[in-house]
Amino acid sequence: MSEYRPVIGLEVHVQLKTRTKLFCGNLIQFGAEPNTNVCPVCLGLPGALPVLNEQAVELAVRSGLGLDCRVHETSLFARKNYFYPDLPKGYQITQFDRPFATDGFLEVADAQHAGRVRIRRIHMEEDAGKLLHDRLPGLTAIDLNRAGVPLVEIVTEPDLTSPAQARAFLAALKQILQYLDVSDCDMEKGSLRVDANVSVRKRASDPLGTKTEVKNMNSFANVERALEFELKRQIGLLASGHSIRQETLLWDAERGEARPMRSKEESHDYRYFPEPDLPPLVFPRERIERIRAALPELPRLRAERLVRQFGIPQYDAEVLTAERALADYFEEVAMAVRDGKTASNWVMGDVLAQTRQRALTITALPVRPGSLAELIRLVRNGRISNPIARQVFVTMIDSKREPAEIVETEGLAQVRDDAQLEQWVAEILTGFPSEAERFRAGDQKLLGFLMGQLMKKSRGKADPKLASEILARRLSGT
Ligand code: ADP
Ligand code: MG
Repeated sequence: MSEYRPVIGLEVHVQLKTRTKLFCGNLIQFGAEPNTNVCPVCLGLPGALPVLNEQAVELAVRSGLGLDCRVHETSLFARKNYFYPDLPKGYQITQFDRPFATDGFLEVADAQHAGRVRIRRIHMEEDAGKLLHDRLPGLTAIDLNRAGVPLVEIVTEPDLTSPAQARAFLAALKQILQYLDVSDCDMEKGSLRVDANVSVRKRASDPLGTKTEVKNMNSFANVERALEFELKRQIGLLASGHSIRQETLLWDAERGEARPMRSKEESHDYRYFPEPDLPPLVFPRERIERIRAALPELPRLRAERLVRQFGIPQYDAEVLTAERALADYFEEVAMAVRDGKTASNWVMGDVLAQTRQRALTITALPVRPGSLAELIRLVRNGRISNPIARQVFVTMIDSKREPAEIVETEGLAQVRDDAQLEQWVAEILTGFPSEAERFRAGDQKLLGFLMGQLMKKSRGKADPKLASEILARRLSGT
């Protein structure tokens, strides 16, 4: 469409799932009363010294290994100096020229392309506090509970070529970090934040164009929208003979536009220097390898295993492994019923539909895998039909009762009694005489119609196999 090609690189801040902060023992509690989880270290009081949280380092290393990075035995902390009210120390402890991980990649597929997106680097750093603009009328308040919370910043190469691919990258990244149990990646709680760098050029072989950086998106969908907006703006400028100014823009989701940040909020002279209060971070190779050996099975391998082990299609395996908890759920059901395809039909069908409709997570779904397996067995044993089972499934969620009990108390068991089936067939033949006639005259399609009417009359309870045998027999006059 346009002669310009997008070039996108992402910087993603991810909050590590630790109990305490990166350099002190304060608890991390989302939603805690402001300024209750603070101490001299994270407040930056004179003389307070940081002590590195080992758990944070371990999670960071896991993220590096999960993203196929080289994890370095030695990395360095640095001070990034700037003045802003959310930063009581006046500097942020981060990593600069010696990050703990470099040169990784993530496989990303969207509707248009599939390929590797290179990860340039991952470094550890502490979060800043949070400015609250809506607490005190006319004033800005500061909550320093977040100051010192451990983050990793994951920086990609400018390998992404469309907003949709950027969104797909983020989905894949979130998936892997959740599998690794490194972060909950909840954008709404700020535990995953994205800065999107974007430029355009005419040919893939051209040098990179001047980029802008877009911040402040609160969902992956908004990252995609913000990038689309910004690309259009840049292309419009270039097409009309203007040039791009390198700047930072803030996305306004309400208005659907990105506006330049006030320039004083942007300062690039950070005067980085090595953090004098922390020794180099040394993480021996054996320890890195021990963590690698203990990594959980990641989505791609798990999908391959599900295909092999349960004989389900690749597509099913990809949907089921989208989330670790969903894959766990599926596996439990499939093991219990020893039938992968039936289990996957249920989980991808009614289970996902109901959790979405009720805005539940899979873990919060009241029907646990064992109960779904029991329901599937009731169908397999011919106790209930499939449509009835779907109805029972909804009742299981609403009432938290077990399937056999629901079938029992609500009289939903399949009817296989000849006398009752004969009676329904007779009623259908008298109820639809002309259809019966046309069937006898050779219109085979009408058998399906008459069966449908019979199932309706029995409210789904007639055993379809037996009922259709009787129907066919009566229609042919035997
Ligand atoms: P800066 O020095 O402005 O922070 P970096 O070179 O560190 O820029 O890159 C930051 C991020 O921006 C990386 O994710 C990188 O891939 C991306 N990036 C760099 N140059 C461009 C560009 N011309 N167009 C799009 N993204 C870019
Ligand atoms: Mg940068």
